[in-house]
Amino acid sequence: MSSAPLNSNDIKAQAKRLGFVACGLAKAEPVADSCARRFRRWLQLDYCAQMDYMRRNVEMRLQPQLLVPGVKTIVSLAMNFMPARHQPAISLYAQGKDYHDVMRERMQQLMADMHLEGRVFVDTAPVLERYWAWRSGIGIITQGGFISVPGYGPTVFLGELFLTAEADQYSPLPAPPLGECFSLAEQGSFGGNGALPQRGSGEGASGAFCPALTPDGLDARRCISYHTIEHRGPLPDSLRLTATFYGCDRCLRATPQFAEATPTAETAFQPSEALLQMKPADWQALTVEQYRSLFKGSAVKRAKYEGLMRNIARWLEHKTAQDKG
Ligand code: SF4
Repeated sequence: MSSAPLNSNDIKAQAKRLGFVACGLAKAEPVADSCARRFRRWLQLDYCAQMDYMRRNVEMRLQPQLLVPGVKTIVSLAMNFMPARHQPAISLYAQGKDYHDVMRERMQQLMADMHLEGRVFVDTAPVLERYWAWRSGIGIITQGGFISVPGYGPTVFLGELFLTAEADQYSPLPAPPLGECFSLAEQGSFGGNGALPQRGSGEGASGAFCPALTPDGLDARRCISYHTIEHRGPLPDSLRLTATFYGCDRCLRATPQFAEATPTAETAFQPSEALLQMKPADWQALTVEQYRSLFKGSAVKRAKYEGLMRNIARWLEHKTAQDKG
């Protein structure tokens, strides 16, 4: 095996050819103390709700070497998911095919093309993905805590390569904010960079924009994205659904950098014609067979048919009341 360092420019160039809109390399070091402290506090406050996987492997999440022994370099990659058209009842990130599959396949291709050794992670392992995206310089942290890639905004999925070789060049340490709006605690399996963001500054922190947003980060127990995607069992009575019944884009759209969002060229992230045509009455009458066909290979399947129908019932109830004025 060659001991020559990885050529960062070659990796970035190949990532671009494969459709990634950003690629950056960071040294695989323990997560900065300020972020680690904030993450632990977020857990102590129970803001992760039923997402027990966030409580597991905390040290591994904060120390990449525990997840992949011998890791030297973390490559962060971003893919634009902004669809050209969308079904308004479903969060923007979940309009097309499941990003886990699309990203993983493309990242494995990058590994093969560049003869890289290591592991590929797309939201399925204890990795603080927005921390590494920030640390590798692929985007800025927005007021709302999203990673925003210049020219593409916050509508990007994130993935990481944990590589066992050193690189010839790493991104310089970006400017803070660390700790304040950069808590980056949760990055579960629902939406990459967007579906359940942490908050800690700006209007979000005051709670004026959304009650789920607190100075200590996002309280999943009060978040529409969490409840409509991750939560099993009845929805809390207080949860109002009027816009989307799967996920929530309100804070994503409120992020100033959302103005930079540009429709993606990735056909995999575009909705099907059948999904675009769905109307409230169609959702109400959705059968299991229709559900399977409509969401084949989609991240929406995470909620399962029963969960989706639970959401739709609440959404129709509130929508009807809203329409009546
Ligand atoms: S605006 Fe929506 S997704 Fe954002 S924190 Fe509030 S409920 Fe969650």
